[in-house]
Amino acid sequence: MTEFMIPLGRPEICEEDISEAVRVLRTGMLVQGVEVSKFESFVSKLVNTSYASAVSNGTAGLHLALLALGIGYGDEIIIPAFSFIATANSVELVGARCVFVDIHPGYFNIDENKIEEVISERTKAIIVVHEFGLCANMPEIMKVADRNGLKVIEDAACAIGATLYKKHAGSFGDIGSFSFHPRKSITSGEGGMIVTSEWEYDQKVKTFRNHGIEPGSFPNNFIAAGFNYRMTDFQAALVLNQFMRLDYIIETKTDLASVYFEEIKHKSVRLPEIAEGAKHSWQTFHVLCEDEKMRNNLMAYLKEKGVQTNYGAQCIPAMSYYRNKYNHNSETEFPNALKAYSCGLALPIYSTLRKEQVKYISELINKF
Ligand SMILES: *Cc1c(COP(=O)(O)O)cnc(C)c1O
Repeated sequence: MTEFMIPLGRPEICEEDISEAVRVLRTGMLVQGVEVSKFESFVSKLVNTSYASAVSNGTAGLHLALLALGIGYGDEIIIPAFSFIATANSVELVGARCVFVDIHPGYFNIDENKIEEVISERTKAIIVVHEFGLCANMPEIMKVADRNGLKVIEDAACAIGATLYKKHAGSFGDIGSFSFHPRKSITSGEGGMIVTSEWEYDQKVKTFRNHGIEPGSFPNNFIAAGFNYRMTDFQAALVLNQFMRLDYIIETKTDLASVYFEEIKHKSVRLPEIAEGAKHSWQTFHVLCEDEKMRNNLMAYLKEKGVQTNYGAQCIPAMSYYRNKYNHNSETEFPNALKAYSCGLALPIYSTLRKEQVKYISELINKF
């Protein structure tokens, strides 16, 4: 591994966060106890849902969300053609089929105007992804879902702290799922959180994450064949303490994004767009190059200069497993998703990155 002078991302873990984790380790109470409960209450208040359940990671969260909605074999789930692969994998894991929809070229979120075209009798739900921390057009998507009797899961993995017209990501649909992987704004190492305001969904999530045990039963009543998708208490304490800085972290990243907006002037680099009413959480600052060759060359050039970049996400129907299974022609069916995958570049953005460094990266891009 190359040591980059400027990495793509870097979690900001303070001494105080570490002390919190250590304090919990010293109690010997390590798994899904008091700290996990505190973390859950905090997140449900922040997001404004009735319930929250901490889980071992964001992908486990998506898997549980689908199970809680009763989705299984033969069902069709609509997902954006451009996302992190886990969105689609979770659908495959419950035996359902992915139905892909192209994205907006500037927001990188599902194109809400193309959803209705692909709805069939077998369609059960839409998984909306708030890609890179920008909320998708939830008011419109909820209208489409209501008109067609579909459930909505929000893959809000990147979107803790992101809002649309002051309403928090994850609270629009039936179930929302967050991730606290180190590439997100705040982190528990691995970790996730499911939010919902439906008691029944929450009970199912809590049952499936804990070996199928009926929540609150004593002695344990095993009502389902569940998983172990629990979070540890020291992870909950580690990430809960970071929530005190979440606003500051997002503000700092917003300032850095505005430096990119001011400084990048390359005529073949397209900057991301921000939807009206949205507060972006800037999990990723994602630009589009003119073509794939330019993206690859720019990536190599920045690497040479000590700047780490990466692809933003995948054009999922073009990835081997999905290409073989669904046989889509992404070039004609999902041109925006394919372009975002093959020409997109995620630039460094994290709370301890300095404005001068963003200027330096922008200058390198302009000179390229
Ligand atoms: C990070 C991410 C996930 C997966 O979260 P993990 O905690 O790494 O499992 C899922 N979907 C999206 C859109 C993500 O960005």
